[in-house]
Amino acid sequence: ALAATMTACGSSQKTVDADTSASSAAGNAGALVGVTMPTKSSERWIHDGDNVKQQLESLGYKVDLQYAENDIPTQVNQIENQITKGAKLLIIASIDGTALTSQLQEAADNKIPVIAYDRLIRNSPNVDYYATFDNFKVGVQQATSLLKGLGVEGGEKGPFNVELFGGSPDDNNATFFWNGAMSVLQPKIDDGTLKVKSGQLDFKQAAILRWDPATAQKRMEDILTKTYTGDAKVDGVLSPYDGLSIGILSALKSSGYGTSGQPYPVVTGQDAELASVKSIVAGEQYSTIFKDTRKLAEQTVKMADAVLKGQKPEVNNEKDYDNGNKVVPSYLLDPVVVDKDNYKDVIVGSGYYTEDQLK
Ligand code: BGC
Repeated sequence: ALAATMTACGSSQKTVDADTSASSAAGNAGALVGVTMPTKSSERWIHDGDNVKQQLESLGYKVDLQYAENDIPTQVNQIENQITKGAKLLIIASIDGTALTSQLQEAADNKIPVIAYDRLIRNSPNVDYYATFDNFKVGVQQATSLLKGLGVEGGEKGPFNVELFGGSPDDNNATFFWNGAMSVLQPKIDDGTLKVKSGQLDFKQAAILRWDPATAQKRMEDILTKTYTGDAKVDGVLSPYDGLSIGILSALKSSGYGTSGQPYPVVTGQDAELASVKSIVAGEQYSTIFKDTRKLAEQTVKMADAVLKGQKPEVNNEKDYDNGNKVVPSYLLDPVVVDKDNYKDVIVGSGYYTEDQLK
């Protein structure tokens, strides 16, 4: 009955038929849940997948967990297979948020509810819930940390040369990160504190397809060769993801940055991936955004369990995530900025990594 309501009511908020929820609850005990993650090339998704799987299994569910190495047709096939295998619910971290419409229609036709994980699935009525971090806030935090690193928060007037990187344009989060960051940086660009010397100020120019570190490295190299001739130096780089930050730092290193005479610019990041936290400890990358994947998994599994039991899951945002077809009821977690000042408290203190792993 839950699923029937879900297909029937299109863009309006899903409701649960109380009379029949008990029977679907009993029917779904031990059910198969399909979980699809974008790629193993970034550590965070490995943590996400492991945490979701393990927590669902501890509630007695069976789990089919798949990774698609950032290949859209592979992810499409994986979701189709999960439907064929009889999955009763799908948890999807999409590669391209707009590429799944017909598979989701198939899920809806089979009365299978869908939870978008971390990344919003776009242009489909067949997305029931969304669990993520406050993505706009991530961008605000990245930009604020960039200003802190440059000393602007402490009163430095600049002008500082900064370059801007964006995430993958097909990932809904990327625009949220960008808009959050620009809400802080644009006023500083307008008042002359920051100069984007390359002139590449549009998201389209800054975006890195599929979050590919090599593409970011190449773009940084091109900017360095074309724009930073003579004595001009880069003071800061807005980078939305640790993998990109590694590529960016490596381009900078090849250009002579990272020495005592020419230290690295302030480079931000996201995900608190092990290599980047180590880089922060070593004084290379300036900061990252910690999004505790254990907590996201926990929230998502709670949602999934409620839906499978015919109950209404807890959400805390019903306005910000319009997927082009409907506003998807969401649960947003809080991201945390991490730099050299607080990594011990936040990262080691929460048990995300041990002190030994960071050596
Ligand atoms: C996630 C980020 C991640 C990026 C690249 C985004 O959708 O929200 O945490 O850095 O994808 O994997």
